[in-house]
Amino acid sequence: MTEEEIINAEDLDYNFRYEISEKVGAKSLLKCIQCGVCSSGCTVTEYVDLQPHRVVASCLLGLKDRVLSSNAIWTCSLCHRCTERCPKGVDYSFILALLRNLAVKEGNCPEEYRGTIQTIYDNGYVVPYTGGLATNIDRRRDRFGLPKIVPPDLKEIDIIMNETGIGNLIKKASENKESDK
Ligand code: SF4
Ligand code: SF4
Repeated sequence: MTEEEIINAEDLDYNFRYEISEKVGAKSLLKCIQCGVCSSGCTVTEYVDLQPHRVVASCLLGLKDRVLSSNAIWTCSLCHRCTERCPKGVDYSFILALLRNLAVKEGNCPEEYRGTIQTIYDNGYVVPYTGGLATNIDRRRDRFGLPKIVPPDLKEIDIIMNETGIGNLIKKASENKESDK
């Protein structure tokens, strides 16, 4: 038997559904009828802590903290199968991308993503272009007759990070992670 969980009304965020649905392309959230078709075809359903239809229900009910701290929003492979199958036209995979943005703003960003952003910040590349890896990449590019890689201007990367605010968001996520220890 599933253990019952009691949630206090004051812990619900009744505006959360509108915070999402008012974003361009996300109005479909409000059409969900909880049929579960999205979850039945989800390619990562066995790895998530909240299945797609439960994420949608939690958004509609105002369980903001639970949704934004769930692994479900990051485990999704964005295969779009749920969106293709939904009988009500709920664009779940798009809504999930919005939830990721909201989660990062709240300081919830998985370590792996923070690491990738840090690598871009430090090197200008998603994968560090240094040492033996750089030598291999250069050799292969030569073989295919591709031009040499032009190193990115790290000052420009710094400006982009500051202008978009992503540097501060990642810092906030790191601080949250530290305070959880
Ligand atoms: S398939 Fe669509 S309508 Fe059905 S539960 Fe999923 S989001 Fe809701
Ligand atoms: S887009 Fe994400 S949630 Fe939808 S079916 Fe694919 S993995 Fe599952």
